[in-house]
Amino acid sequence: MNERPFNDHSYEQFLNEGKIMGSKCQKCGALSLPPRPICMSCFSSQMEWVPFEGQGKLAAFTSIVVAPPYMAKEGFGRNNPYIVGVVELQEGPKIVARITGVDARKPEQIKIGLPLRAEFLPKGEGGSRQTSLAFSPSR
Ligand SMILES: [Zn+2]
Repeated sequence: MNERPFNDHSYEQFLNEGKIMGSKCQKCGALSLPPRPICMSCFSSQMEWVPFEGQGKLAAFTSIVVAPPYMAKEGFGRNNPYIVGVVELQEGPKIVARITGVDARKPEQIKIGLPLRAEFLPKGEGGSRQTSLAFSPSR
């Protein structure tokens, strides 16, 4: 497992396998998700893979009305917005991800600090099918 390079491609491969894997600096212990080849705290390149539980809470969010093509195909857009949020993971790092299971048309009802859990969403079609990480309320 340590043979995979610490980059977005490996991160996506792990997501396709249903795993949330980030990098941990072997020198200072700093965690990164998505993984990074160089530590942002001490610039060490001695990294190891660590699994993340996928539990966190909502730190910030925004309602998106201009959808990327693969989401526009699913019916998202001006009349059907969706939510992208910053999730503070229980391990510490923050990650930007789509938030599902909330009403994007009533963003005033979405509360900062909302407990969330990870969810694996398929994106794309056919042979290029990928998995993206999303979060939904854990209640
Ligand atoms: Zn470090």
